[in-house]
Amino acid sequence: MRAPVLVATDLDRTLVHSARAAGPPGAAPVVRLEQRRGVVTAQLTHRAAALLAELDRRALWVPATTRTVAEYRRLDLEGRLGVAPRCVVCANGGVLLVDGEPDGDWAAVVRDRLAPAAPIGEVGTVLARHLDRLDGAGPVRDADGCFLVVRAGRSAGWSAGWLEDLAGECATRGWRVVVHGDKVHVLPVALTKGAAVAEVRGRTGARRVVAAGDSPLDADVLEAADAGIQPVDGRLHGAGRRFAHVAVTAAAGLAAGEEIAAWLVAQVGGDGG
Ligand SMILES: [Mg+2]
Repeated sequence: MRAPVLVATDLDRTLVHSARAAGPPGAAPVVRLEQRRGVVTAQLTHRAAALLAELDRRALWVPATTRTVAEYRRLDLEGRLGVAPRCVVCANGGVLLVDGEPDGDWAAVVRDRLAPAAPIGEVGTVLARHLDRLDGAGPVRDADGCFLVVRAGRSAGWSAGWLEDLAGECATRGWRVVVHGDKVHVLPVALTKGAAVAEVRGRTGARRVVAAGDSPLDADVLEAADAGIQPVDGRLHGAGRRFAHVAVTAAAGLAAGEEIAAWLVAQVGGDGG
């Protein structure tokens, strides 16, 4: 059997979209994957769902998400799409699920990789001190013990200066700050999706890696891939990040998710297995 093609993809705003990020309502029927407080937080079109099932049959599809394990499991891809990817990267590379369970060997590698950085408790104290200067920031969440995330939209009063101060204090501790919508992520510099995808590539002997992602947290996966695609309405594209080997969708929102799924299936072709 030939070595597989590995398809590493982000999920939110790449393949699945919240009601807010879906774009103009279209006629395409959708599959709802997640709803919170009556609002759809993850959905995709029926055609995109069928394409992902096809992708999973033809290639080694590895979702690579910043979602925690619990947040990923809530999507219930197996129950709703009939797809159960063998390897899934969660918590921005901090956890590798293999056959649905956290992989202990990868957890040990992550511990070693993150050892030079300050512990999460120390960075939590720094973050709390900075959040005290804002009004109305949400509670800080610890994402699987790997990084910290807090909802602190601009309405909470943060400014570029506030962010710079926080980022500066984090940088001296081996951590970085990434703002995504109204979410502020504070992560160890060495915690990347790319490292986890490279681990899967090494374990499986994949001969080719194809990738898709929308945000700065996907940049390293796209950069290391042999080919990739990013949505035109993504934050990475919006920030002017282009890669010679990464295509850009014509469509936005839910339609971009479908376009990306179709593009990935076409990349894998009939010889993915
Ligand atoms: Mg995303």
